[in-house]
Parts: sequence; C-alpha cells; structure tokens
Amino acid sequence: MIASVNPATGETLKTFAALTEDQLEEKLQKALQAFQAHRHSSFEERALMLSRAAAILESEKDDFGRLMTTEMGKPIKAAVQEAEKCAWVCRYYAENARHHLADQVIATNATRSYVHFEPLGPVLAVMPWNFPFWQVFRFAAPALMAGNVGLLKHASNVPQCALAIEQIFLRAGFPDGTFQSLLIGSDMVERVLLDHRVAAATLTGSEPAGRSVASTAGKQIKKTVLELGGSDPFIVMPSANLAAAVTTAVKARTINNGQSCIAAKRFIVAQDIYDEFESRFVAAMKALRIGDPMEETTDIGPLATPQILRDLDNQVSQSISSGARLLTGGRKLQGNFYEPTVLADIPVRSPAFCEELFGPVALLFRVDGIAEAVKLANATTFGLGAAAWTNDAEEQSRFINELEAGSVFINGMVASDPRLPFGGVKNSGYGRELGEFGIREFVNIKTVWIK
Ligand code: NAP
Repeated sequence: MIASVNPATGETLKTFAALTEDQLEEKLQKALQAFQAHRHSSFEERALMLSRAAAILESEKDDFGRLMTTEMGKPIKAAVQEAEKCAWVCRYYAENARHHLADQVIATNATRSYVHFEPLGPVLAVMPWNFPFWQVFRFAAPALMAGNVGLLKHASNVPQCALAIEQIFLRAGFPDGTFQSLLIGSDMVERVLLDHRVAAATLTGSEPAGRSVASTAGKQIKKTVLELGGSDPFIVMPSANLAAAVTTAVKARTINNGQSCIAAKRFIVAQDIYDEFESRFVAAMKALRIGDPMEETTDIGPLATPQILRDLDNQVSQSISSGARLLTGGRKLQGNFYEPTVLADIPVRSPAFCEELFGPVALLFRVDGIAEAVKLANATTFGLGAAAWTNDAEEQSRFINELEAGSVFINGMVASDPRLPFGGVKNSGYGRELGEFGIREFVNIKTVWIK
C-alpha cells in the first residue's frame, strides 16, 4: 500500500495505486531517452536548471515543510530547514560540479593522458522517509549534474513528497524523464534493478534493504552506493565543555524525533564527569516539549509509523527486562508518540546494545578512560558517524585515528554538509555521497591515452 498517513493524527490523506507493469515500462524507456539527451547537455545548462530548482525550494520552503511534517511527523521548523538545505545542495553542485568533474591530466609516456568523467545512465535511488526531501536531493543534485538521470523509488509512506520532488525538477526545466518518481513497493525494486536500462543504484535505508539491493545489483554487475543504519557513539571526556556537550547531546539524539541514521545513539562518558553528565542530560530530556509537529515550539513529534513505535517500544522493554536501568521515559504516549527515554547500565546482549534504536531513546555508558571509550565505541557492527568531546589534543588525535566510522566530529554533532563526503564503514554501508567524492560515484572514470 502506498499511502500518505499523517502520523500525528492517524488520518489517511491519500492513497496511490502502485505503477502497473506497462506504466513502469514506459517510465524506464523515458528515462533512457532522457539520458541520451541529458548526457550531452553542458554543465552550464544543467547548473541553470539546478539553480532554478534551488530557487523553487527556497521560495516554497514553507509549503514543502508542511508536506514533510504532514507525511512523516518531523517538527515543522526542521522540515522548513530541510527544504532550505536541499536548495543549498542544489546550489553547491550547480557551482562546483564542473570543477569536480573536470578532466585531470596525468603525465605518462603518452603525448597526453588524462582522466575524463562520463555519466553512467539512469540511476535507481531507493530512499527512506526520515529526511524525505534531503535524502533525495543529495542523490539527485550530483547525479543530474554529472549527466545521469534519476529514478526515485521513495519510501511507501511519503508518496506526496516523491511526487512534489518530481515536480520541482520538471518546473526547474529538466526535460521530462530526467527525474521520475516510481510509485512502487519494495517488491518491485528487484524488477527495476534487473532492467538493462538501469545502470546503477543507491539505497539509503536499513541493513536488510541494503543487503537485498546490493546482492541483486551485484549479480547484474551494477555499481551501488549504500547508506545504511548507524549506532553512533557520542563520547564525552573530562576536558570537554560539559554544558555545551549536554545541550548538543540532547539535540544529537532527538533530532527528527530520534529517527536519524547519524543521531548520536550511545553516550559514552568518562567516569570523572559521568554523574554530572547523567543528571544534566536526563533533566534536559525530561524538559523536551512533545506535541503537534506543526507547532514551532515542538521538540518531539510522533514517530513516522505505528510499526516504528511498536519496534522501538519492544526494544526498550526487552532491554529493561535484560537488566538496563530506566532513568526516564520508556512509555508509549497516546497516538504515535514515544516519551524521550534514557537507559543506563545496558547489558551487552540486550537489543539496546546490539541494535539501532530509531526513536528518542538515549543509552548512557560509563567508562574509565579513553581506551575503554574507543573499545566500546567500536563494539558495534555499524560505522556511520562518531562524535568525541575533548579539549585534549592527544585524545582528539586518538579518536580521529581509532574510531571506526565514516566521519569523526570533535566537539560537535555529526551532521551532513554538501561540501563534505558522507557515508559509512562496516554494516553502515559503502560509497560516499556529497562533496567531490559523492559526484564521482556514478561516473565512468575514463582513462584517455594519446600518442
Ligand atoms: P527501509 O525499510 O530499509 O526503507 C528504505 C527504503 O528501502 C524504502 O524506500 C523501502 O521501500 C525500501 N526497501 C525496504 N526493503 C526493501 C527491500 N528488501 N528491497 C528493496 N527495497 C527495500 O528503512 P526505513 O526503516 O524506512 O529507514 C530507516 C533506516 O534508514 C534506518 O536504519 C536508518 O539508519 C537508515 N538511514 C540511513 C541513512 C544514511 O545516510 N546512512 C539516512 C537515513 C536513514 P518501502 O517503503 O516500500 O518498504
């Protein structure tokens, strides 16, 4: 079922029938035709269209924000900021793609040898609902600037966002077929990936979905990028500014109602400051305002679907049954809401220790020093982001070198930025989005040798 349901009220807003085989076939053919033309367009032409997309996002950010909040429940302020960030990534690639993809001359025994970048073709993007605009634009802006065309299979609970994004690209002047939303369920993803017209795929989502898409694509020898889950550590050492660390820790855990891949999920705090951190952190979590996500003052809105709420509640109750100590929260609230929750003394075999918790639930760990902090931070199958708070230069350098993650943020919270590469290691995926590395994922890095 592809349905738009307001998670704050439970109201079904719209339902959509999945594409029929004939409709899908038509869209795949249109993508191929669009690619034949788009691949020959100039960087200037592409940049002009992408800048127009940015302008649309900026001028209609309030409408797009309301749409996101209505479909998946994130607080409205964050939704409007998400639309602004999408404009930023469009402008970033409109200005920089030409430079990132310029020929690179390399001296050899040839008269002239160089690297030339060419687009691959239609790229399938399987995307999640949690940042329903940002996840799509951070794929689409570099992909379209590189001369590829996009086929979006968005999460089934955000079809209106999917259609709105398609419209933005059309209104910006991209020819029909350059960016299309495919309203299909996940059962149709394999069918699309097997199609000879689809050149590559990117998936942002859960580990099982990533494994499934990567194995199908692998059999077809098609390039993939995977951005999967995370259980990011947030380490606080005695030299850190504790007040700033606590404020940032709460934000890093509860952003997007706690449903972010790079949310800080495990707070690893040095013994000397642990008690102080725990009391301030718990107090700040208790003070968060839960309520209507359309209100500007709301900190925590509903979880995106009833299933996510059930899964989170089960993970928390099972962790408590296995011995975790509940410091605050731990309850479903009326509707699709979950109380901001803090757990401590988390047993190694509990779901809280081993799994990703996708909601406003923080896990506290006490460690006796940096060696234990690093060991615990790395004791996860994930490796997306990591934050470490310390003003000691030697400790900073150890965290940078020893944390197994796609990014390390010192004295800050992990966040994406169009200029910096984003991605993970271990079961958090492979490949990179954003920056220069992101735009080079879906290109043929062609060697040219001339004598
Ligand atoms: P999900 O269930 O994996 O869904 C993500 C997308 O994959 C949806 O479009 C979904 O379609 C599709 N999908 C699901 N199962 C599939 C399968 N077997 N084959 C092909 N496609 C499949 O993930 P989610 O629960 O919506 O999103 C949360 C997860 O995404 C978390 O683990 C989070 O950490 C991760 N995430 C990662 C990043 C990152 O950048 N690393 C960013 C955001 C989120 P349907 O909706 O139709 O099922």
